[in-house]
Amino acid sequence: MRCENAVINQILDAYKPMWSLNHAISLMGWDFETYMPTRGTEERGLANSQLHMLHKDLLLNKDFVGLVESAKKLGSLSDLERGIVRVLDREITKQIKIPKELTEAESLERIRGNMAWRQAREKSVFMMYAPHLKKMIEIKKQIAEKIGYEKHPYDALLDTFEEELTVNDLDKVFGALTPRIQKILKKLIDSGSPYCKEGKLGKKYDIQKVDELNHAILTLLQYNMERFRMDVSTHPFTEAMGLNDVRITTRYEGTDFKKSISSTIHEAGHALYNLQCDQSLSVTPVEGGSSLALHESQSRFWENIVGRSLPFVQLIAPLIRKQVSFANQATDDELYLYFNNVKADYIRVDADEVTYNLHIAIRYEIEKKIFGDELSVSEIPEFWNDRTEQLLGVRPTKDSQGVLQDTHWSSGLFGYFPTYTLGNLVSAIIASRMRKDLEGYEEDIKRGNFNPIREWLRLKIHQQGSVYAPKVLLNNTFNEGYNPDYFMTYIETKYLGS
Ligand SMILES: [Zn+2]
Repeated sequence: MRCENAVINQILDAYKPMWSLNHAISLMGWDFETYMPTRGTEERGLANSQLHMLHKDLLLNKDFVGLVESAKKLGSLSDLERGIVRVLDREITKQIKIPKELTEAESLERIRGNMAWRQAREKSVFMMYAPHLKKMIEIKKQIAEKIGYEKHPYDALLDTFEEELTVNDLDKVFGALTPRIQKILKKLIDSGSPYCKEGKLGKKYDIQKVDELNHAILTLLQYNMERFRMDVSTHPFTEAMGLNDVRITTRYEGTDFKKSISSTIHEAGHALYNLQCDQSLSVTPVEGGSSLALHESQSRFWENIVGRSLPFVQLIAPLIRKQVSFANQATDDELYLYFNNVKADYIRVDADEVTYNLHIAIRYEIEKKIFGDELSVSEIPEFWNDRTEQLLGVRPTKDSQGVLQDTHWSSGLFGYFPTYTLGNLVSAIIASRMRKDLEGYEEDIKRGNFNPIREWLRLKIHQQGSVYAPKVLLNNTFNEGYNPDYFMTYIETKYLGS
């Protein structure tokens, strides 16, 4: 792309090698999770860290930093140009502030910690992993100090995943959200709601057949296989090499087919954000999504608000009956309740729409306490179990059901979890606005006409890439922030009919 401004054009030219390294790193990451032979791990690790170092050298090159600095001083930048400068300036500032030794210590601990975590989880013994968690927290505390913050050290880490997100924002979000969800959950359980009754569809399925089913759903959702593909991995993810090579994976545990379908639709929602970004932003720092929370709002919108709606279940019900032998007699309503079963349980990744954010609330509370020096590593497992019992009414009986269930901390991802909840909140804001703009969009879903929805998302969110910071985008497009009211209304209406 060419901009009005000569300095910005110089920046974009100099950015091309960095973009290319990102392209290669992404492709290597995708390959690592899908098809790489297991013995390739070490070589891949080396190649990966070398490419990252090359990227850092290019980013912090004096001439490049000088260009970005001079662009910052220009008064007459367009929104797009300002977006390019903002994204690069953020990246440069963080990289400069964090000393090389800390970056190295973190990447080393990430590998060691992750290995220790895997073994500890398998044996369900937290103490095997605790020394690594302690080390990672020490590194992260130092990083937070180097980055700097105004009020809470955790703010520095939150901002690395979600631009300008603070403890202040999240205290408001969870303060409003948690008690309301608890109340709904109690009502559902106490009233013996049909949503809480487990059906008989969570059985062993034929993986090949469900794979065909997932591909048929992607066809219904109009995915263009010339720019997109789907493979299989243990933990589903989306990887965008650029705007025209976006890949997702899904999972097949072999039982409970809704997990596989939901993962497919979730990741396809992420992919659409990249696929519908304006092509003029290709090979620039602003291609792709505005933030993790905005990205998650897209995946959750498709997975939950569309994918778990009655019209959508009605649309795919004939495909399910065809591909899943034991579901061939299931009614639309039975399938709908199967996809929307509410169960207070220990494991976050399997949680339903109602309870999901309670899991995040627990992680948020713990992370905030860790970085506020209010909770030591040895106190975490019990605190985790206590809070799970208080919020969800079930107490993990072993560490693998509690503190050891998620990979995030072992990979140094402190501050990441809250973006999942923010994504849920934004997905409900989107649904509420879409309902006003696209009258009868539920009818469109039932008929399999997804064009109006896709086009609405493209115009309101996708096409802008990361030109605007998430808070600015939310304000510009919806005149809103991370407001939990829409999500609560959505949940209350759907599950309590009020
Ligand atoms: Zn996601």
